Amino acid sequence: MKAVRLHAKNDIRIDEIEKPKPKAGEILIKIGAAGVCHSDLHLIHMGIPDGAPPFTLGHENAGWIAELGEGVTDFQIGEAVMIYGPWGCGHCAPCQQSMENYCEHQSESPILGGGLGTNGGMAEYMIVPSSRLLIPLHELQPEQVAPLSDAALTPYHAIKRSGSKITPSSFVFVIGIGGLGHMAVQILKKVYSATIIAGDIADDKLELAKKYGADYVVRTDRNTNSVVEEVTHITGVKKCAVVLDFVGNNPTLALGAQTVGLNGDWTVVGLGGGKLDWHCMNQPWGASLCTPYWGSRVELMEVLDLKRKGLIDIEYTTYSLSQALEIYDKLSKGQIKGRAVLIP
Ligand code: NAD
Ligand code: ZN
Ligand code: ZN
Repeated sequence: MKAVRLHAKNDIRIDEIEKPKPKAGEILIKIGAAGVCHSDLHLIHMGIPDGAPPFTLGHENAGWIAELGEGVTDFQIGEAVMIYGPWGCGHCAPCQQSMENYCEHQSESPILGGGLGTNGGMAEYMIVPSSRLLIPLHELQPEQVAPLSDAALTPYHAIKRSGSKITPSSFVFVIGIGGLGHMAVQILKKVYSATIIAGDIADDKLELAKKYGADYVVRTDRNTNSVVEEVTHITGVKKCAVVLDFVGNNPTLALGAQTVGLNGDWTVVGLGGGKLDWHCMNQPWGASLCTPYWGSRVELMEVLDLKRKGLIDIEYTTYSLSQALEIYDKLSKGQIKGRAVLIP
């Protein structure tokens, strides 16, 4: 079968590999769709640890049960399922509470999930190590929902943490209206009735933000002080109750530091490698800085219910597996609107 594989730093190839066979307790999934996340670009630039084998990329996956390993009895062949991406030990307290994104043993393993250190979903088939990592899709189709497993779950979790601060009277600044950012705008609008200020460096991304309910849009590719001035002109002296940064580079960190209000939440989701010159007196009193990671399995069920209720929808374009390299190139240049989804 065809698979998009990371071999080393900046070395991805489309390989022909053997269709895997599920061992006891495992499940073989026929992949229906695999989302292309910006985190893959960070991974591709970092490469894999020396001596580790190449693996198949793709950590936003949905498909159908193709084969059940010995002892797996809770799913039927052909059933449509979403794959929960962060794979923990399954036994520690956070895992038992469905928060495998915060598994206590995360630092002990180089494997964070399928497509993140071991084979993921950019292939015709993928092995999932346990049925606890699968969520039945029922009437939903894999192609419509695969990217929700990260592009919607991650902002949903980040926003939920700040739920008590997001009221119809508060301003939320969403920086970076890509795959995750355009889902954040929808969740903020439809679930929280927040007043949303969206920031991006490209007009087409700001158009997308407006389409999904942003109240104000600002171009951020200019002098930080003038962007801060524009944002505080909108919010007034109270500034933003919550800043959600889906970029995380030096300019956006500088922007977050100056637009978050007193007692606000400054949430950095983007892994853009920015550094912060932090001082206890240059952050507003009471403000918290948080770097959340992905989301829990129960939150993913809630995200699927938001989709079922028609409250959120991913903006996506489909491509074939053989177009993966071209898609990563476009993503690195900011030329993907919403999410690119690979269909094996
Ligand atoms: P994306 O490429 O789809 O979107 C990024 C957006 O940011 C684009 O619209 C781009 O135009 C915009 N942008 C770039 N520089 C900007 C700037 N200076 N100001 C404002 N906007 C700017 O990426 P994505 O898949 O949505 O991922 C976003 C980030 O979140 C990535 O760094 C990714 O690795 C990270 N991520 C983190 C988690 C987590 O759990 N913490 C999970 C998934 C993704
Ligand atoms: Zn991701
Ligand atoms: Zn655990």
